[in-house]
Amino acid sequence: MNTLQKALKKINIACPFAFNEPMHLHTSFKIGGPADVFARPKHENHIKEIFSFCLKNNIPYFSMGCGANILVSDKGIRGVVISLEDFSGISINKLKVTALSGTPLQTVVEETCKHGLGGLDAFHKMPGSVGGAVWMNARCYNVSISDLLECVEIIDDSLEIKRMAVAKHEFSYKRSPFQNQRLIIVKGTFKLENADPEDLKKRMEEIYNDRRNKGHFLYPCAGSVFKNNRDFGMPSGRLIDTLNLKGYRIGGARVSPQHANIIINTGTAKARDVKALIEYIQQQVFKHYGFQLEKEILYVGEGL
Ligand SMILES: Cc1cc2nc3c(=O)[nH]c(=O)nc-3n(C[C@H](O)[C@H](O)[C@H](O)COP(=O)(O)OP(=O)(O)OC[C@H]3O[C@@H](n4cnc5c(N)ncnc54)[C@H](O)[C@@H]3O)c2cc1C
Repeated sequence: MNTLQKALKKINIACPFAFNEPMHLHTSFKIGGPADVFARPKHENHIKEIFSFCLKNNIPYFSMGCGANILVSDKGIRGVVISLEDFSGISINKLKVTALSGTPLQTVVEETCKHGLGGLDAFHKMPGSVGGAVWMNARCYNVSISDLLECVEIIDDSLEIKRMAVAKHEFSYKRSPFQNQRLIIVKGTFKLENADPEDLKKRMEEIYNDRRNKGHFLYPCAGSVFKNNRDFGMPSGRLIDTLNLKGYRIGGARVSPQHANIIINTGTAKARDVKALIEYIQQQVFKHYGFQLEKEILYVGEGL
């Protein structure tokens, strides 16, 4: 038993956790080696407990939601993964919905649309949690999460829960002020508007069809691999497509035949295959156009 495992056993922690948890079970890519410790807080107190353990003992931690935007190393993750997947719940009050950070965003979309509240319908069928969407400032069909987000609750090194009003200017395309900070997002409150549930249903169907046509649900993936950049004059997917890279593969990783900005796991892909394919695409685009594609997905874990 290693030192981290011994230390955790000694403090008799209430937050549920497992050792050597295979991360491929917790990522939409279905890729990733073991996490030394995989904690699944169910309550705020559990989050505080495990977060405080990491901070006090100087143990690296990684907080995550649904793992829909990450590529986890084949060697896994050293330290503690704090998974919010069991930390979920929603409350709706007039035009506002508040959700715990581990709540799948899709659950919030469905509940709010059922109540005739519009706004989050743009995120229909986007995999991911509320916390992940806020951290990433996820964007779908011309709506960014920050357009709807009113306030968040976070836990930082003070180990106190802090409520923060959202300052819109601190968000930009796929960027939030929470990136590069030591904190865990606990809750998000979104301000929505009244809408006709039938219109919302129609809109959601259109979005679902569009995502299906782009092959989002055919193979394990993490959505768009590269950010879009106006300077390119076209979306990154179209740019990559001009180089005939759809279907190009390295090991078990392949550029989706349906959408050139998506890399799929054909069943046997390792993180190193996906990474090699990402680098190959970046090199090709740079060689032909002089543009440096910026990754949207995040590398996590040892040696990536
Ligand atoms: C098929 C498919 C389609 C997609 N389409 C889109 C799309 O249209 N638009 C879009 O923007 N994205 C899209 N994505 C990417 C993904 O769905 C989003 O980025 C989503 O917001 C990720 O949420 P998550 O909970 O899975 O985050 P994770 O992948 O678990 O984590 C992402 C980052 O957020 C941080 N994080 C997560 N939760 C917390 C928390 N509670 N506190 C602090 N930090 C936290 C993690 O540390 C990590 O850095 C798609 C993905 C897939 C698989």
